[in-house]
Amino acid sequence: MLVDILFRNADVIDGTGAPRRNADVAVRDDRIVAVGDLGAWRGGVEQDCTGLVLAPGFIDPHVHHDEVVLTDPDMACMTSQGVTSIINGNCGFSIAPLTAAPPFPAPLDIILSAEVPRFARFAEYRARLDAQPPAVNTACLIGHGTLRINTMAELGRPADATETAAMRAALDAALAEGGIGLSTGPFYPPARAAPTEELIAMAEVAQAHGKLYVTHMRDEGDRVRESLDETFLIGRKAGCGVHVSHHKCAGLANHGLSEITLAMIDAARARQDVGLDTTPWIASSTMLNSGRHRQATRVLVADSVPYPELAGRDLADIAAEWGLDIDSALERLLPATGIFFVMDEGDVRRILTYPHTMVCSDGIARGKHPHPRVWGTFPRVLGHYVREVGLFSLEEAVHRMTGLPAERFGLTARGRLAPGHYADLVLFDAASIAEGATYDAPITPARGIRGTWVNGRAVWRDAAPTGARPGRTLDQNTGTIAP
Ligand SMILES: [Zn+2]
Repeated sequence: MLVDILFRNADVIDGTGAPRRNADVAVRDDRIVAVGDLGAWRGGVEQDCTGLVLAPGFIDPHVHHDEVVLTDPDMACMTSQGVTSIINGNCGFSIAPLTAAPPFPAPLDIILSAEVPRFARFAEYRARLDAQPPAVNTACLIGHGTLRINTMAELGRPADATETAAMRAALDAALAEGGIGLSTGPFYPPARAAPTEELIAMAEVAQAHGKLYVTHMRDEGDRVRESLDETFLIGRKAGCGVHVSHHKCAGLANHGLSEITLAMIDAARARQDVGLDTTPWIASSTMLNSGRHRQATRVLVADSVPYPELAGRDLADIAAEWGLDIDSALERLLPATGIFFVMDEGDVRRILTYPHTMVCSDGIARGKHPHPRVWGTFPRVLGHYVREVGLFSLEEAVHRMTGLPAERFGLTARGRLAPGHYADLVLFDAASIAEGATYDAPITPARGIRGTWVNGRAVWRDAAPTGARPGRTLDQNTGTIAP
């Protein structure tokens, strides 16, 4: 039997959480066609995998690469860590549908630059991705914040009945055109004035499409418990599944609170559909003027439009040099993104260890000094938290990066290494895998990733992008398992 690629003698981890087993894996076109002892088979390309793990490509359920997939389609920040599918449009802010004119309010201005075309309908964005695909598969949530910016002249109040109807109609159309779910970000100024009822009205539309309500909650600090209750209520009232993005307990006063928040999630799961993801870092990252600096023990400037040369510097040092207080220095740096040391290592580990937590990077790739999670998240979990700390098994970690998010977001025939599934694959050395990115040198590829394949084509090999861009746009339940 002749196939396109034959992976020989791999330690196969299949994404279900099952123990690894030694096997050969055959790929023809975009699919895995056989797994087992394939000694008599031949491949157009034969890859010796002795001593290496072959796993389904990782799925990052939470990124902000809506524009990056257009402007930097090699997506090396993702493929270099073994990521083969990403979900954009998070925290209430999606690139489409966008009918409002710039300048955009933060944080939309940190995921969109002025040069990229606007997509008034989600279908236009999708058509552009289909015509000029990136290296990775992409799915996109539809952001309530973006819909508010399109619809409301004044964002500091609840939407009225007419505006709510217009936003519901726009969401309905975008979900019909392939948006994978609804995202909200009542934490952020453009949606902060949206009451729970407005969010329920939006979630009802997601429910009608059988899609999820995904949220950057109103508060992840002092009122994180109230925010969880609000999220659960929205899910129950609208009858849809809810997904808590980048779960954290921010601020010194809230360190240790994850014991309570995870118990709340557990209790809620007994009566409704609740999921969550998290990043494996104690520092968060978002717009600099988010208020997060008041909860942080340290703040780094990740990117500043007027002062790009200050990226990577400590906000307190900049303020001292300018002879300004912190808030005045921060104002002068805008528009800007920051890195905020707000979390407790114990909470990070407890949330990661919770059985239903998936891993996400929450990556914002903009600028020369992003958070190291943009390039380092998945290898950090597999290296630091699995191999060095022993939080859970390698098989469990891979499951949280593959089978679990694929099932959660309805990515049929992805997230599992099995015949009939798409050949999204990563080959890595479990003994050496580690993030290369640090807070000082964040744009650094991971160590130990030998290759990444998307839809049967190599996208990362020999520590560099191959230039292939086989990524597809993914909708919920549109893939099929080949016979
Ligand atoms: Zn967020």
